[in-house]
Amino acid sequence: MVEQSLWIPAWVALGSNQNDPLQQLSAAMLALDDLPDTRVQLCSAFYRSAPMGPVAQPDFINAVAGLLTRLSPQVLLAHLQALEVSAGRRRDQEQKWGPRPLDLDILTYGMQRIDEPGLRVPHPGIHERNFVLLPLLDVAPDLEIPDLGPVHCLAAAVTTEGLERLD
Ligand code: ATP
Ligand code: CA
Ligand code: CA
Repeated sequence: MVEQSLWIPAWVALGSNQNDPLQQLSAAMLALDDLPDTRVQLCSAFYRSAPMGPVAQPDFINAVAGLLTRLSPQVLLAHLQALEVSAGRRRDQEQKWGPRPLDLDILTYGMQRIDEPGLRVPHPGIHERNFVLLPLLDVAPDLEIPDLGPVHCLAAAVTTEGLERLD
């Protein structure tokens, strides 16, 4: 008998600041819904954000997507990285936090905590990133981030500096 895996709620952060970022994010939302054993249940609004770090580069467009998936977190990440490559991303040629056509990070995967080479869940940047927390606040204010608490509490602790909600 084949064991049936459960559908797990997972949250993904989307970001882009190259090659028509609005179009990149719209296409990525559709591509996420097209992944095997995966459905997009919720999409946040899109936000424009000032880039992090020392690299001078265009503003990012950011959003979050709420999935239901039967993929393992490792297989989900492999699919996300394949979508990044399809969007033209070349990791070997880019700077840390430099410009990229598409960045897809796993924020949460159920209530799991994962700390292995190449995969940390919850994503370690969540609590300090307004471009993640404010999109999450729109669509999942009560989402519990393992070890950190509910989104609405975390969002209350960041400013909206550098962030603009797009209609
Ligand atoms: P940050 O993770 O701080 O947002 P980044 O998105 O710019 O930085 P990348 O260059 O896209 O970083 O990815 C670097 C590595 O991070 C990837 O090779 C991936 O294996 C690893 N990684 C660890 N945890 C996660 C996660 N939760 N989601 C996506 N990638 C992750
Ligand atoms: Ca990232
Ligand atoms: Ca990433």
